[in-house]
Amino acid sequence: MRWEGVQRGRVRNYLAFMGTDVLPFEPSGEKADALIQWLGSPDVTLRDVAEMHEVSVEALALWMARPEVAGRLRRIESAVTRRTRLIAANYLPAVANMLHAMIINHESREHSSEQPRESARETAKSAAALLMRLAKEAGGPEECEVVAEARSPEVRSPEVRVVERLMLAPGETSGERIGAGAESGSERGVLRLPVGRMSARGTTRGLEKGMITIDGSQGEGGGQILRSALALSMLTGKGFCIEKIRAGRAKPGLMRQHLTCVLAAARICGGSVEGAAIGSRELTFAPGPVCAGDYHFPIGTAGSTTMVLQAILPALLAADSPSTIVVEGGTHNGMAPPFEFFERVLVPLINRTGARVTARLERPGFYPAGGGKIVVEVSPTRTPRELVLLERGDEVARGVKVLVSKIPRHVGEREVRRASARLGVSPESGIIEEATSPVGPGNVVLVELSFAEVTEVVSSLGEVGKSAERVADEATEEARAYLAHGAPVGEHLADQLMVPLAALGGGRYRTTTLTPHSTTNMETIVAFGGVVACDAAGVVSVGALAGRGESGPWPMGNPRPQPR
Ligand code: ATP
Repeated sequence: MRWEGVQRGRVRNYLAFMGTDVLPFEPSGEKADALIQWLGSPDVTLRDVAEMHEVSVEALALWMARPEVAGRLRRIESAVTRRTRLIAANYLPAVANMLHAMIINHESREHSSEQPRESARETAKSAAALLMRLAKEAGGPEECEVVAEARSPEVRSPEVRVVERLMLAPGETSGERIGAGAESGSERGVLRLPVGRMSARGTTRGLEKGMITIDGSQGEGGGQILRSALALSMLTGKGFCIEKIRAGRAKPGLMRQHLTCVLAAARICGGSVEGAAIGSRELTFAPGPVCAGDYHFPIGTAGSTTMVLQAILPALLAADSPSTIVVEGGTHNGMAPPFEFFERVLVPLINRTGARVTARLERPGFYPAGGGKIVVEVSPTRTPRELVLLERGDEVARGVKVLVSKIPRHVGEREVRRASARLGVSPESGIIEEATSPVGPGNVVLVELSFAEVTEVVSSLGEVGKSAERVADEATEEARAYLAHGAPVGEHLADQLMVPLAALGGGRYRTTTLTPHSTTNMETIVAFGGVVACDAAGVVSVGALAGRGESGPWPMGNPRPQPR
């Protein structure tokens, strides 16, 4: 292929051939003034403005990214223009994808014969260069990274396929090439330009849709939809706007734990956020590229530390190097995964995919004092395996553990006695842990049920006015319910496995009834272009998100694999 010879005029022909108006939108004078006015108006959306001017949103976004237009919009900076610019920035990867795909499709139709690996490599590099030149010629974007990947025919297909990604990320060098993948049969050509503030990232599929809008009141209507959206946004590079945050709760809007999730996610990917404040019911999030590293997130209240992990762990599992995360807050909260659930139930399953996660409880933290601390080390894998978990296997062990913090030890002893008797295990095997440097009072009974293929941890929190025996009974009731239903994946694990598996190599697992948390998570995954389904036998199938897992990448034009 002779990419070097491709001229702008020829590209225009391709665009005309494909029936798009991405490049030709070049308003000036009064028309440009009117557009700028409309873009600063709180009464219209980006799409409205595009429709009014009979132009595609992509073309409008590309025009908005021109330095002179971006400068004018910045000068009338307001919440409206900031938000509109963020949304527009998210369309730019789609613009690049469209241009690139059109060129590649056209070229590969002309040259569909067997391509040697060397040629595939050249294609990738040249395509990246071409795409970057187009972006420059079109006057924007100010900040972008283009990755073009060519798959050689020996690996996958008799035709050269090119997957490209365009990132808008701060502070990059220019003309650099990274990511040689010759042994896997793919090659990436990467070009970068100096950048400003806005950031967004996108993979090939689904970008055409631009920013995703999420109704926070739908489904479960709590904080989980936000955490899953943050995780999926970082994984897919798609930005989102969420409205009616936690509308289904007595105190709607962002609480401290949710705000920590948002700020932690933004920090990890250098993303841009609008509406990150306590009580906020609306938020706009545009992700940048995920950066592995050492992170410390103090929630500042007894908010759940494991919930913060739900928002950020998936992206770090898909990062290109290890991370250490320290989260401070509550470690044993009502209606949240206790630390032991994370460590003993979720982490071992994540590790079966080939990733390596370890978790350490440095200090327990209970409501209302908080002060707990957990440390999580994450080592991603480049080749995650699919997780298949359809049966429990034989029971290996069952045990009772009680944690007491500023609570008399005899409370723990009564709980161990009661729970052991109800579970048919010896009370001597029960473990009582007293917090060594307790921050506040708290007590939790944990029952661990270990099987060959899976472990379940159920729990019950002590409360003022609740007898030790009742706390033990609540935990053992839940344990009995788990033992009775027979599925390997309990209802809490079912919702918490989905997003990590989408980040890794996908998988299938059998669960009991799907909770609203699970169905809401499924809807959120689908909204971000992922694949997840549950059949009549309770088997949940999760597809690996683009470019990862045994199913391989889902390049443009290829059908996305459907769950079996
Ligand atoms: P809100 O305050 O809006 O209810 P939240 O952010 O505190 O929201 P939810 O959105 O309700 O919390 O999410 C609760 C999460 O905690 C779910 O992932 C659920 O599976 C998990 N969870 C709740 N109880 C347990 C438990 N006992 N063991 C393990 N996980 C649990």
